[in-house]
Amino acid sequence: MYNPMMIIDGRPVLASDGSVHKILNPATGELVGEVPSGGRQEAHQALTAASRAFPAWAATSPGKRADVLHQAASLVRELADEMAVMLTLEIGKPLRASRREVLGSADVLDYFAEEGKRAFGEWTISGAGKSRSLVIRQPIGVAALISPWNYPVDLLSWKVGAALAAGCTAVAKPSSMAPIAASAFIEAINRSGAPPGVINLVLGPGSTAGAELVESPLSQKISFTGESATGRWIMAAAAPRLKRLSLELGGSAPFIVCADADVKSAAEACVQRAFNNAGQICISVNRVYLHHDVEEEFMELAIQRAGRLRVGSGMEDVDLGPLASEEQRKRTREHIEDALSRGARLRLGGSEPEGEQYSRGHFFLPTILDRVDHSMRVMREETFGPVMPVMTFKNLEEAVRLANQTEYGLAAYAYTNSLDAAVYLAERLESGGVGINSNNVVDLQAPFGGWKQSGFGRELSHHGLEGYLELKHVKIGL
Ligand code: NDP
Repeated sequence: MYNPMMIIDGRPVLASDGSVHKILNPATGELVGEVPSGGRQEAHQALTAASRAFPAWAATSPGKRADVLHQAASLVRELADEMAVMLTLEIGKPLRASRREVLGSADVLDYFAEEGKRAFGEWTISGAGKSRSLVIRQPIGVAALISPWNYPVDLLSWKVGAALAAGCTAVAKPSSMAPIAASAFIEAINRSGAPPGVINLVLGPGSTAGAELVESPLSQKISFTGESATGRWIMAAAAPRLKRLSLELGGSAPFIVCADADVKSAAEACVQRAFNNAGQICISVNRVYLHHDVEEEFMELAIQRAGRLRVGSGMEDVDLGPLASEEQRKRTREHIEDALSRGARLRLGGSEPEGEQYSRGHFFLPTILDRVDHSMRVMREETFGPVMPVMTFKNLEEAVRLANQTEYGLAAYAYTNSLDAAVYLAERLESGGVGINSNNVVDLQAPFGGWKQSGFGRELSHHGLEGYLELKHVKIGL
């Protein structure tokens, strides 16, 4: 049993009214742990602690801030095996993916530790030479960091690493669906020399604890990852105080395979990106567009490859764990039923796996549909489940038109061996990240974020650090 506590001003804290929230294993329904369920009061206390700690942390040198982050990264690596088990038990993902996520979060802390040292200033001489312009970057203030359940540690590390490196203090609020490993992550930073109040942890529902973090005058920056609908609410709630915002929201990534593509590697990459984390990724492949000429070969390879994926408890040697909740499974089923009722053809999966070992978890088989079109929910809404819908196109113009026909713009992928086609697609796809012959748009050194309803603001890279800094022009008369 894991029973983490909130961390406010460096101290472990329970909910003031004693409320707790039970976390059940999505593979078995068994109790994994109980976490305190805080609300507005705890969020306020955490913001107060962060406000008190801000002036000293902002004045701490980037080198000293880096020491804390590096130390935290080492501790997270030491705890990786234990934290990976927590992640798998609370959210279902296969253990090796959980371990990769935890180790990745340590790399993020190391990265921002060093990036914080490079918040360079500028120095220019005025036109007449009688003054100098100095431009400096200063931390915004207290940052509220609100994260979702699908990558609870990794996505939180993107925010915490950048915020602390920039000199902001912070209050982290992980999702109530997956708060255990995220709590261990924040605790590791607290144990690594972060002064009390620099990083606080509030556990509780978004509607109370999260809303307080957004609305309170004590937070100056909100960094949110989650659904577009929640993002819209947060933007409106933050508007009266014109708070600085980063919103990383939903996605509906297209995967285009051109006539000249290496079809084998495209099929492998597509299956991997569609079914990784059981499709519960904001950059998951949601819509596949195949050139007519490659349809047959691609489908055969993709069905073979996806058919070999093993489904089961994340504690076993599997490729797909259960979905995180029954709600996820229900939506997946509904999207498939809707597509089939409108003329789609089922090529693989389409149901829960059979067998006693699957009876208590939210398992679902990798599913491939073809003959889909844009009238179907599966092509318009984020399924967030293991479904790969496929349709065809005749030329690049049509592929781009179809790919861009969505309110989202987070990730897009295209496979081609033509340099002209690669540039054409890279320039026209309306998306914060484009993978050309690559099924990944996440890189520590590159900005990650959305266009359109996928949000705004960037995480990772030096752009991610900028999200926690304000520019100040200091004009010096001589
Ligand atoms: P939600 O929007 O439901 O929740 C995200 C976080 O916001 C949770 O911690 C939640 O708390 C909190 N929250 C909910 N309501 C409020 C509120 N009114 N004020 C403040 N905080 C609030 O998203 P999910 O957790 O369901 O995550 C899945 C979504 O995240 C998908 O749409 C996915 O595409 C998106 N996502 C986007 C990514 C990106 O980088 N663009 C990356 C990963 C996921 P609680 O749940 O505890 O109530």
